[in-house]
Formats: sequence, structure tokens, C-alpha cells
Amino acid sequence: MTKLLPTSTAGSLPKPSWLAEPEKLWSPWKMDGDALAQAKQDALRVTLGEQRGAGIDIVSDGEQTRQHFVTTFIEGLEGVDFEKRETVRIRDRYDASVPTVVSAVSRPRSVFVEDAKFLRSLTGAPIKWALPGPMTMIDTLYDAHYRSRDDAHYRSREKLAWEFATLLNEEAKELEAAGVDIVQFDEPAFNVFFDEVNDWGMAALERAMEGLKCQKAVHICYGYGIKANTDWKATLGSEWRQYEMIFPAIQKSSVDLVSLECHNSHVPMELIEMLRGKKIMVGAIDVASNTIETPEEVVATLRKALQFVEADKLYPCTNCGMTPLSRQVARGKLEALSAGAEIIRRELGASAAA
Ligand code: ZN
Repeated sequence: MTKLLPTSTAGSLPKPSWLAEPEKLWSPWKMDGDALAQAKQDALRVTLGEQRGAGIDIVSDGEQTRQHFVTTFIEGLEGVDFEKRETVRIRDRYDASVPTVVSAVSRPRSVFVEDAKFLRSLTGAPIKWALPGPMTMIDTLYDAHYRSRDDAHYRSREKLAWEFATLLNEEAKELEAAGVDIVQFDEPAFNVFFDEVNDWGMAALERAMEGLKCQKAVHICYGYGIKANTDWKATLGSEWRQYEMIFPAIQKSSVDLVSLECHNSHVPMELIEMLRGKKIMVGAIDVASNTIETPEEVVATLRKALQFVEADKLYPCTNCGMTPLSRQVARGKLEALSAGAEIIRRELGASAAA
């Protein structure tokens, strides 16, 4: 990528209302069979057009072919029973009914690779593809298999994460072969289970990224703009220093890009200094608000970040996925992101020429 400050999005984008009810997580599909397969491809065309139309440089599938960023990948695996559900506490924050791991997990076939090939056939723009991270996967499941063979719950979490990391690595390598430029692992759980991140979480992520030649990204955020998350954020005080607990491990890792929540968050921007040398996808768009940022607000966030990131390593981005937003609001926010990035690009160009 030679363009300065290439813009991108953290992950999901709203789906067209003919595919699934918008502004909702786990929204059911409105058709099935061949009609659904066709509709998903049409949605990929639409989301690509909207991203390019809004000036987004690094495009994604907008997660149009998945109901959820974690569970859809798991649905493609064997060893997890979606009928057998248990209520567990997710991210130590809210209870959800989740599927159960009932036997050894495996990946009988690729999950997203055909979608990635299709998106690749539509555009020459760089593509970023998101996968759930191993720690976030195990935190969205009930484990009745690995847990039963090990008395220590703690160790069985590590074991299951390692199994998932191996499967993620296979998928990531196939995505790379399909022409994906950046594979991103979503690890919101990194912002909650600090001891585990440092003990085995980062190692599991490295296993998922092993041998990849494309760029490797990790997205760590404070979650979608849903009530459980906004309530949790309200308890975190005036300064959010969670990133501080995990940045040293990320700094030492082979991760190339780190996607972070910055705009309207209480994360002190100077924490990014701890990642000096990495490329930073700076979240300059709040996904928990329907208010569309002005380009000037985007500029203010990027300018603050530029104190701690070299310009050639700054990637303007959204804080998190945009599935819960309306298409109109999401489009407005992406346009603001592009406009803000362009203002900074011009400033940097002017100072370079001076
Ligand atoms: Zn996120």
C-alpha cells in the first residue's frame, strides 16, 4: 500500500434489508438455499460498492455472509453442537446462550474461502478479511469435551484455544492463497482476560498466524455498540488502560497491524506509543453512536494519534464493526472517515513539500 493513511473498517457493515433484518446481531437470513447463496453474493457486491463509494481504500466483505463474527466460523467446524446450548458469561460481561463443544474440533472444509475468491474477482483493491481470534472463540462457547478431560478449567481453555488456532491457521492460509492481503483476527477477549493473554492467548494467536506471508492484523476493542457493552464501558472509569496490560506482548509478537478503539473512548492515546513500529489502525469512528462524525472530528483523532504513530504506519479505521447501525448512518460515517483522512494527507503533503 503506497497511499498514505489508507482507510479501512474494523469488520462488519450493515446488511441490506432484503438479506437480513438490519441493525441486529444474529439477524436471521430472509431466504435459504440457492436464493440465499445468490443474495449473499449480491450483498458482497453492494457492500464493496458502498465502501469504494465512500472512499475506503482497504475493503472487506463487511461480513455480509455471516450472521455473527464468531459463531458463523464455528458453524463451519465439526465438534460443536449448535442444538445443545448452554448459558455462559461472555467476556465476563453478559450471559448468552451458546453452542457446546461435544467432541474434538476439526475443519472439514474451508469456511469463507469461496466468499473471499468472489470478492477478489470483483475488485483490485486490497482486501482485509476478519476471522475470530482463538481466545474470543473459546469465550463464545461451552466446552463439554476438552474440559471433561482436564480438571483444571484454566488449562482446558488453553487446550481448546490451541485446537482452534490450528484450524484458523488453515483457513487463514487458504484466504491468503485466495488473494486476501490482510488477515485480521478479532480478539475483544484480549481486553478482558489479561493474565490469560500473557500466559497463552498471544501464543495461540501466533499459532493462528504461523507461516502467513500476507499482513497480519489483530483487532482489540471494547465491543459493538450494544447495551451490555455500553453499560460495561460506563463502569471503566475516566481512563481506560486495559490496552496497557497486553501491548507489551503484542509489541513482541509477529502482528503487523493493530486495530484499536480510539474515538470517543477513554483510552489515553499515548498508550499507542507502546506499539511503536507496528502499523496502527486508529479507530476514528464511534460505532456506538448514531451521530455521524464530522471530518474535523476524525482529523482531531488522527492528529492526536500522529504524535505516537509514524504517518506511514497510520491506518484510519472504525472503532469496531458496524452491523448494529443503519446503512445510512454507516455510509455517512465512512464518508467522514475518508474526508478526515484526506485532510490529514493534504497537510502532510504540504509539509513534506515545504
Ligand atoms: Zn470490535
